[in-house]
Amino acid sequence: MSDLTALNATRRSADLTELGDGAHVDVVVIGGGITGTGIALDAASRGLSVLLVDKHDLAFGTSRWSSKLVHGGLRYLATGNVGIARRSAIERGILMTRNAPHLVSAMPQLVPLLPSMGRGQRALIRTGFVAGDALRILAGTKASTLPRSRRVGVPQAVGMVPTIRREGLDGGLLAYDGQLIDDARLVVAVARTAAQNGARILTKVSAAAASGTSVRLVDELTGESLDVKARAVINATGVWAGEVDAAIKLRPSRGTHLVFDAATFGNPTAALTIPIPGEVNRFVFAMPEQLGRVYLGLTDEDAPGPIPDVPEPTPGEIRFLLDTVNTALGTALTTVDVKGAYAGLRPLIDTGQGRTSDLSRDHAVIESSNGVFSVVGGKLTEYRHMAEDVLDRALAARAITAQPCRTRNLPLVGAAANPVATLRTTSHLPGSLVARYGAESPNVIASARCSRPTDQVADGIDVTRAEFEFAVTHEGALSADDILDRRTRIGLVESDRNRAFAAAEEFLATAY
Ligand SMILES: Cc1cc2nc3c(=O)[nH]c(=O)nc-3n(C[C@H](O)[C@H](O)[C@H](O)COP(=O)(O)OP(=O)(O)OC[C@H]3O[C@@H](n4cnc5c(N)ncnc54)[C@H](O)[C@@H]3O)c2cc1C
Repeated sequence: MSDLTALNATRRSADLTELGDGAHVDVVVIGGGITGTGIALDAASRGLSVLLVDKHDLAFGTSRWSSKLVHGGLRYLATGNVGIARRSAIERGILMTRNAPHLVSAMPQLVPLLPSMGRGQRALIRTGFVAGDALRILAGTKASTLPRSRRVGVPQAVGMVPTIRREGLDGGLLAYDGQLIDDARLVVAVARTAAQNGARILTKVSAAAASGTSVRLVDELTGESLDVKARAVINATGVWAGEVDAAIKLRPSRGTHLVFDAATFGNPTAALTIPIPGEVNRFVFAMPEQLGRVYLGLTDEDAPGPIPDVPEPTPGEIRFLLDTVNTALGTALTTVDVKGAYAGLRPLIDTGQGRTSDLSRDHAVIESSNGVFSVVGGKLTEYRHMAEDVLDRALAARAITAQPCRTRNLPLVGAAANPVATLRTTSHLPGSLVARYGAESPNVIASARCSRPTDQVADGIDVTRAEFEFAVTHEGALSADDILDRRTRIGLVESDRNRAFAAAEEFLATAY
């Protein structure tokens, strides 16, 4: 039996041919970020016929530029939104224990207690952490999944973040939140699980026009167009939503992260978390990440004007992040230490007032006058809930009968409970591979036909050749950019990207 989870160029061509001109499906989803793939999975697992298209690639947009956190909703609590905070904590628990335990782990966050932090601020942060524990308990997530917050002494704080400033250090406050191995990897896992449930997932296919009952699609590789009829059309194009439905008004806000070698922070095991001076509820954090890196984020800046394909960090943001992190480090970092930088645009709903950091992170479902349903705003953490919400509304409005939503208990590919899982033991496999593929890791190696499958793609880059092949044969990578910038995150550091480029090309040139 063919592997339904496998997305690749051959399947894409076959799907496009099959769709032909004038095809009918139940649901068309426009946009292959976390929101769109979540909707495709929900709809397909309710037994509906589903087509998802993305103009570029899976996770091409904001979904790959996040902080890669699965939030517990503490931030919402601080602004009095108890309902949203609770929902966020519940979704975090679902992701960590049922949908994708292989992709999300508990990340310790350390707030160093330095002389610059007054008693009032310390008390506020401690109270916030205790409230976070209460949220976790309310959401039914066990302390074995996310340990409770606590105070730690100087040796522990220094052990977790060795480059922390020592003068006047009085230990730290420690709390835990969910951390994704990678955001784009979650999107790909959701998309492949949607395919496993029968959805057609087509990348490099754009929606040129949409109405409530049909979509004009353009194959970006050939320029050919085709019309697909649908019973419901859902616009999940994030910051580009206004291009599909002109009635949607967004106020994008840019968030920037810097990328460092983990060694620059002494190979930390916790995220160094520093309150932003003058702000009550905002922090800058330096998080340990895969491939021996640390990401330092994040900013929140108004980003008016045309939406770029790939947003760019500004020198001002880079300075702000370095200045803030340096308040907590023994030796100041400079731009020379920065190995890469990335920026993403939050698709915030325009309320016409306030700073972008004050705008609601809640999502909205909007039915436009032409019948297209758009879902905008929200957080990556809440993608499953957003999908359920928009589909419940769209199916009711169009009188489409389907099974109830099942995603709460649906393990994604790579989770041990998903049927494609083959993992018996992890001991013989590279730890980094298991962190990215979970219970599917043995498949990645076993299905490889390349030479030296367990060798690194380039010296010192902790990604195997088998993973590049798997990206092409199973994860829908159609170009070197797809492999380097989204299936893996090698591309976040330009020099690594250059070194791995030839290997990516090798796999694309091979006929599978
Ligand atoms: C800096 C930053 C940090 C964040 N950190 C976190 C975090 O740690 N945790 C968290 O929960 N949330 C976080 N968020 C929020 C989260 O990342 C976003 O809410 C989420 O990724 C939005 O996903 P999306 O699928 O709606 O949009 P996108 O990921 O942008 O997807 C939209 C897709 O639509 C496609 N598209 C556009 N036009 C068309 C068309 N005409 N036809 C076909 N396809 C089209 C694009 O190619 C793109 O792939 C963060 C956001 C930012 C900006």
